[in-house]
Amino acid sequence: MSSANRAVMERLIRNIPDFPKPGIQFKDITPLIGDALGLKAVIAELLEAVPEGIDAVVGVESRGFIFGVPLALELGVGFVPIRKPNKLPGAVYSQEFDLEYGSSTLNIHQDALIPGQQVLLVDDLLATGGTLVAGAQLIEKAGASTVHVSVVIELEDLGGRAKLAQERGIASITSLIKY
Ligand code: AMP
Repeated sequence: MSSANRAVMERLIRNIPDFPKPGIQFKDITPLIGDALGLKAVIAELLEAVPEGIDAVVGVESRGFIFGVPLALELGVGFVPIRKPNKLPGAVYSQEFDLEYGSSTLNIHQDALIPGQQVLLVDDLLATGGTLVAGAQLIEKAGASTVHVSVVIELEDLGGRAKLAQERGIASITSLIKY
């Protein structure tokens, strides 16, 4: 990554302590996407690391949409949303996954991907990896496979990279800024 792009991204990712609850260091990407140079830098750097042969981009609600759509446009492929329950109107595949307290569910339209497609899976941040493992499971349920994961931020101590490798066999992961 260019040192200028790294500097822009580090400057524009804002840390908000104790949001949404005590003990969480929330990484706020709104200053980054609100800045013309920041937005351009983050999309250019994510794009640079995407392997050849991507057939579709899948993004996780809601910050995965922000980064996934411009990547799909640049790659010349379509964009598929993974959404929270009761948002997608058509028939869906569902995947439940564990959160720190309790569990959550994500959905994908059953006809959103063509079986055999090679997918780029996008979110803003990789923490424990639960969200992206669920995303990869939904892509599998649709008959496609996740060949690369792109995130802006990785919280390395939380082990998401290892979880994606161990549970879904995904070792091709780009994160731009690591904490
Ligand atoms: P995980 O499933 O633990 O990998 O968490 C990833 C999801 O939770 C992403 O969709 C992030 O947007 C969100 N998230 C988790 N931790 C943080 C954090 N410290 N700052 C901002 N977003 C976070």
